[in-house]
Amino acid sequence: NALVAAATRPKRDIEFPRKEDGRPKYSSEVYGENVFTLKTMAKALPKPIFASFLRQRRGRQNLDKTTADSIAHAVRVWAMDRGATHYTHWFQPQTGATAEKHDAFLSLLTNFTPGGEESTAIDQFSGGELLQSEPDASSFPSGGMRTTFEARGYTIWDTSSLMFLRRGPHGTAILYIPSVFISYNGDALDEKTGLLRSNEVLSRAACGLINLLEPEAHVNHVYTTLGTEQEFFLIDRTMYALRPDLKITGRTLVGQLPPRHQQLEDHYFGRIPGRVMRAISEVELECMRLGIPVKTRHNEVAPAQFEIAPIFEEAAVAVDHNLLTMDILHKVAHRHNLRVLFHEKPFKGVNGSGKHCNWAIATDHGENLLDPTVRPETNYRFILFLLAVLRGLQEHAALLRVAISSSSNEHRLGAQEAPPGIISAFLGDQLTEVLDAIEEDRPLKNFSVPQFQSIKVGGTVLDVKVAALPSIARDLTDRNRTSPFAFTGNKFEFRAVGSKQSPSFPVTVLNCAVTAAIQEMTEALRAQMGSKPRPSEEDKLVVIRRYIAMTKSVRFEGDNYSEAWVAEAARRGLPNIKSAPEAYTYLIQEKHKRMLTEEIGIFSDGELLSRYYILNERYAKDVIIEAETMQTIVGQQILPAALEYRKSLAESAAALKTIGVEASPEIDTLNELTPLTKDLQAAYVALQEAARKLIDHEGHDANVHAQFAHDVVGPAIARTREAADALETAVADKFWPLPKYTELLLTI
Ligand code: ADP
Ligand code: MG
Repeated sequence: NALVAAATRPKRDIEFPRKEDGRPKYSSEVYGENVFTLKTMAKALPKPIFASFLRQRRGRQNLDKTTADSIAHAVRVWAMDRGATHYTHWFQPQTGATAEKHDAFLSLLTNFTPGGEESTAIDQFSGGELLQSEPDASSFPSGGMRTTFEARGYTIWDTSSLMFLRRGPHGTAILYIPSVFISYNGDALDEKTGLLRSNEVLSRAACGLINLLEPEAHVNHVYTTLGTEQEFFLIDRTMYALRPDLKITGRTLVGQLPPRHQQLEDHYFGRIPGRVMRAISEVELECMRLGIPVKTRHNEVAPAQFEIAPIFEEAAVAVDHNLLTMDILHKVAHRHNLRVLFHEKPFKGVNGSGKHCNWAIATDHGENLLDPTVRPETNYRFILFLLAVLRGLQEHAALLRVAISSSSNEHRLGAQEAPPGIISAFLGDQLTEVLDAIEEDRPLKNFSVPQFQSIKVGGTVLDVKVAALPSIARDLTDRNRTSPFAFTGNKFEFRAVGSKQSPSFPVTVLNCAVTAAIQEMTEALRAQMGSKPRPSEEDKLVVIRRYIAMTKSVRFEGDNYSEAWVAEAARRGLPNIKSAPEAYTYLIQEKHKRMLTEEIGIFSDGELLSRYYILNERYAKDVIIEAETMQTIVGQQILPAALEYRKSLAESAAALKTIGVEASPEIDTLNELTPLTKDLQAAYVALQEAARKLIDHEGHDANVHAQFAHDVVGPAIARTREAADALETAVADKFWPLPKYTELLLTI
């Protein structure tokens, strides 16, 4: 029935918005329609009020009551004119998702009179209500930072991210106020606060270095830029509805690979299936209305796997936009009877999903500090920032590993598709040559100015010149898909980040590591230049050479999936962190803790420790949930199916026996099934045992608990899966209770 439903469903095809004359609008005309932009604000506010807001936004003053009240009034009118009935402070608790609590604009003016009362309903929204609200948010993870009796948490408007409208019920709308979430004592309870702090410290350190190198540059602020490539699966919703494992854990706990999956390499960049195309275009339209600059869409490697990517933006805004995009994808997919899967490894044996985080830093003049420019070998500012990233990575690779570690991403990392647990950086031939030449104080080898370096596509092939093909400029770096952290032209691409997680913490940690390195290198430069007012070219070169030599161990240009690299990395002393619980211990290891809480100081001890607990607890909980789901599926669906099939075979065999047939294919099949069924039953019992131990184990140190989940329960789940998958091949299809991979992956 699910297959028939999937095949016969009517299409949903929305109309792209039109201009008055009926022609479709341009994307740029739809862009930001539902955003309370600075321009809209400027039009709606008295000039001095708007100016005061801008000063506050640049950190020059606090938001005063009059300004807040005026903005609140203006945004309420704007929002209500577009159907808004409610507003919400939208924030990012440490669950990886976003959170919201809605309040109506409705308010009552009440007069108490001797005979009773008289109320008038009005719409109201004050500056105070705009600035903060206090959700009783005691049920969010706080890692022990709050107990339920002191549950006060505050959401506070983050003025650096614009307010926007989203669809409510019955054609109404809801005003979203991007916010941070902090405790009564000012501790960060969310993902965003740390990110904002890390952007700020990075900016200060980077400005410090730039102003030392070129005081006349007048750089006042440096921005972190982020572009997130989001991968995901889309499957039919009826198939999804029949898979409790997908519904509960986000991944299939059992299932055999279909004969054809990704081996023909025909899905990647192939034609996007019709239903998916209609859904993704609808997502893009909603994104554009919200001012999310969606740019790219394409099929990914596995069947039913896709990717969308926006144009990069300031990092905190890019994170907001990524989380919104995920939410929109989820909702729009629903309208198309599709289900989006963000889990990093929903299907065993085919490609998993990541969220490549393209990261760079740019000055307030719009210059990208990681742009090699035409002659990187003489662009010492570029080289210094490049080395700072390498140095940050070298010192705090383990922290980056922490930031991408979850029970779900673990299934993807280290498999032959995603970068392994060793964090190294790839620079590409040309930059490697630039660094080598500087270090060895020699001219560049076979390296022409990249701007003029082009590949002649129309060059001579068997002496036939294809004149119709233009020459193109060649990128400075080739690609190395195996590197967890690759320089790609004018940015670094952090590829190990998981598709499901918020990019917030990975970027926060990266910012901090690079900040620490910039500070260290600035000090080195100061020491080198002595009492001179500014460093000479020679001073810069001395420091650059030292850091080129120093950071070599973290550079790797080869195949990160190879065994040889594991050995080589060990020789270089790079950490190879194999599991998430192991990674978590590095978060509170002295060196990293000191950097995060003292040297850079974006987290308090309490904030860091709470994050450590949250990560460990989350890991163990995920594994317990998987173990219990696996038990239900095996105990209530798969084993009964196998037994029923055995019964039908046994009845046939018995019937045959009564007419004198002793040996029969039924008997042979039964004999094949018996050991497989027994094997599954044994694995099931062992899993129950392991899960019980894990639950008994609660109360131990959070990390010990998570380690136990990893070491004992994870393998028991995997073992049960093997046995179940063996049965899938042996049991007749009509008895099998779950949609198989073929149905899940090849039905859109
Ligand atoms: P690829 O990863 O295939 O090279 P692109 O060059 O299109 O693809 O970039 C992928 C992502 O990187 C996009 O989201 C893009 O906006 C983003 N990006 C490009 N330049 C920067 C930058 N300076 N800072 C951050 N992200 C960037
Ligand atoms: Mg990319």
